[in-house]
This record gives sequence, structure tokens and C-alpha cells, in this order.
Amino acid sequence: MPYPPVVTRQSNIHGTGVFSTHAILAGERIIEYRGIRIPKTQSHLRPETITQGSPDQPVFTFTLDPLHNLDGDIPDNPAKFINHSCEENCEAIHENNQLWIFAKKDIPAETELTIDYAFSLESFFEHPCHCHTPNCTGYIVASPLRHLIRKMLSQSKFKPESRFKKYKILACMERSEIRREPITQQPV
Ligand SMILES: [Zn+2]
Repeated sequence: MPYPPVVTRQSNIHGTGVFSTHAILAGERIIEYRGIRIPKTQSHLRPETITQGSPDQPVFTFTLDPLHNLDGDIPDNPAKFINHSCEENCEAIHENNQLWIFAKKDIPAETELTIDYAFSLESFFEHPCHCHTPNCTGYIVASPLRHLIRKMLSQSKFKPESRFKKYKILACMERSEIRREPITQQPV
């Protein structure tokens, strides 16, 4: 089996995606997410890669630890094209100063690999999700926060013009609910 057992091609979710070339078992190590380790104190030097970005702006940064980010926007990093899904089949694990993508479940051949980008709520309206899974939240946000999005969208009083106020409130709720730093990866 060629390693890594993946190939990049056009995705039905967004832009370029990463697909399995062979069946992959749950727990299997799939591919390293390569990048440049940068101190958070220098992140302002590459502002386009350390936030969740705008819908048209690619962002390929993982938070490694409280002091460092990993900027994956380098040529030799096909893993940067892994899309977000609300029912992801992979996860990123930080191991010995490297970041690896592992299978969360059994993945058949010719299946798109996906992870949870774990975005915060702060600008979720700018990041619609097109993962096409039955439980898609409609927006790219971290799994523990999706119930807040569903609750808000289900409110009959919800009006688009109130979105700004609403998501500010949600962002405050989020800070008390989640501590995990987001993977801020946003393929084109
Ligand atoms: Zn989705």
C-alpha cells in the first residue's frame, strides 16, 4: 500500500479534498500534517494564517500548544486540504512535536477524509458548512458548540439582522464552555 494512503482531488465539500486510496482502519495513522512551527508572539507577522479567516481566505494553522502555532501553508503538506465535516472521520493528534491525522472510524477506499476544524463561534456566519452529512449544523464550529448553533437557528424569532448581537452572546457562552484552541484550517 502506498504511504500515505491518500490522494488530493476536487471535493464535493469545498475546494480540494483528501481522499483515501485504500480502506483505512479506525485508529490508523494516516498522514502527517506538516508545517512551520511559529511562536504565537510572531503570529501577527502572518495574520492571514492565524485566524479563522474570511470565507475566501485560506487558513492552514493549527494551535500546537499555548505558545506555538503550526502553519501548514507549505507546498509539501497535502493534509492541509483535509476539509471539515460535522461527522468527521479523522482527528488531528499532537505527538512528539508532530501533528498527525488519525482515522476516528473505519474509512472505506475512495472516501473523503474530514476533521473537526473546531472553530469558535466568533465569526461562524462567515463559515458555512457544506459537508452534506445528515446532522450538518450548517456552519463550521467545534463539535461541543454545535448545540448552541442549532438552538439559535431553531428559534422562531430569529432574524438575520439580529445575528451580530446573537453571535456575540454565543461567543461569550463559548468562552465559558470550551477551552480547546481551534484548528484554524480553511481551505480555499
Ligand atoms: Zn456540516
